[in-house]
Amino acid sequence: MTFEVANLAPQSAGAQSFLAKKQLKMLIGDQWVAAATGKSLDAINPATGELLATVPAGDRADVDRAVKAARAAFKSGVWRDMPGAQKARILWKMADLMEAHLDELAELETLDQGKPIWVGKYAEIPGGIEQFRYFAGQATKIEGTTIPTSITYQPPGKKIFAYTLKQPIGVVGAIVPWNSPIVLTAMKLEPALAAGCSVDLKPAEDTSLTALRLGELLLEAGLPPGVLNIVTGLGEQAGAALAEHTDVDKIAFTGSTEVGKLIVNAARSNLKKVTIELGGKSPAIILEDADLELAIPGAANAIFFNSGQVCVAGSRLYVHHKLYDKVMAGVIDYARNLKLGNGLDPTVQMGPVVSSKHADRVVSYIDAGLKQGAEAVVGGKRVAGTKTFIEPTVLANVKPNMSVVREEIFGPVVVAAPFRDVHEIASIANDSVYGLGASVWTNDLSAAHRLAAEIRAGSVWINCHPMYDPSLPIGGVKQSGWGRDSGHQAVENYLETKTVCAVI
Ligand code: NAD
Repeated sequence: MTFEVANLAPQSAGAQSFLAKKQLKMLIGDQWVAAATGKSLDAINPATGELLATVPAGDRADVDRAVKAARAAFKSGVWRDMPGAQKARILWKMADLMEAHLDELAELETLDQGKPIWVGKYAEIPGGIEQFRYFAGQATKIEGTTIPTSITYQPPGKKIFAYTLKQPIGVVGAIVPWNSPIVLTAMKLEPALAAGCSVDLKPAEDTSLTALRLGELLLEAGLPPGVLNIVTGLGEQAGAALAEHTDVDKIAFTGSTEVGKLIVNAARSNLKKVTIELGGKSPAIILEDADLELAIPGAANAIFFNSGQVCVAGSRLYVHHKLYDKVMAGVIDYARNLKLGNGLDPTVQMGPVVSSKHADRVVSYIDAGLKQGAEAVVGGKRVAGTKTFIEPTVLANVKPNMSVVREEIFGPVVVAAPFRDVHEIASIANDSVYGLGASVWTNDLSAAHRLAAEIRAGSVWINCHPMYDPSLPIGGVKQSGWGRDSGHQAVENYLETKTVCAVI
């Protein structure tokens, strides 16, 4: 592992002028405003500790204003009733604007979140752009059905005509995490807007910058004011107020399982609808016949990409015992050769984790694992002299009951264990409260598809980990969530079905 934090500044004029504002405002209706209390939060570059800007510390009063603005826009029909093709043009234009501002968005995301610039530029932001294009297409394809009924008691000479209308659910509160802000925000905004809803967005407090910039671009694309409002602020203040608000019809949440449970509780206030995309502890399983040229870098990338801050990160590595030593040597070698540093440096492969608070959490998990008998075969600590950089870490000699095996660490830390028999691996993989993703590495088609069916997870990848596309539904079983983002059915998350039955 090499480590160097180069002193770098953003190159794009867009990122420079956005940051030059210093005290950023949030979007309510057609106004960019400060928090009602006047309080703000610092946006810190996790690679350098530098203050990038401040964002409003919105709370209950600001959320209330944002909900009123969203409700007024919804009632006015300005977006809800806009023809689908016109909505599609605006959403497609947004994708074009994001593409035109790709360098700027990638720099802002790296500065605020820490990820290597290429992660934003070539993977996540293009993924967010394609979400806009995919769901722009959905805006013209929202349709109910006509239903032949078996009702026999209509008056003589009359007929029954029954059909469903698909109508937008109303005001949506979208609450998103900090690990991949642009793409995760797009995954919420897009289907909700395609469905005709109004949205109040609450970005994560550690990474609000690109959400605010996306808000500017959406207005430029032609989204009517009030259809999207953005309230920055702390989760326990702005987020909780949004989840509890009785004039919000739906919460679309991505984040931890712990907070997901709070969201479900808060939604009781008015029984608003909820979809929750939560945490994971996803296994990567390497079978006896796997192609190690693919499997070793694949399994390593599954945990070290984005410093392991990926909901579907391959954080449990299970290897057939005959290949275990070889795979471990390969993954250790991969970890040792990673270049850590300031994500603005295009040669950096792994950035910091999002904050020193989160780094403390990751380190405390590693320490607990080591205390319980795990062995760090590579890494195992914070990079000396830093607050936010964690060494890429592989823990061996782990036992199924250790916290490092059971809980989501959300950092560059993988636990590794050998297994003896393909027939036991599904139950080992399923021994988790989570069920988000899993990968199977093998050339044995039957074994791969049998395991894909047996593993309890929302997604299973074969010879890759992970794969995202707007067309592929993503979400979890067990405590990894309710519902699916992406895929054409994601629009349904934001629609109500109304049944109309007439005697004609
Ligand atoms: P988090 O749950 O701490 O926060 C997520 C969002 O919820 C943030 O905007 C936060 O401000 C807000 N929040 C916090 N407390 C709240 C409360 N009481 N009421 C309402 N909102 C509140 O998660 P995080 O640390 O930002 O992100 C990491 C987690 O997200 C990991 O568990 C990861 O697995 C999960 N995640 C899941 C997916 C998925 O698709 N399943 C994708 C990415 C991340």
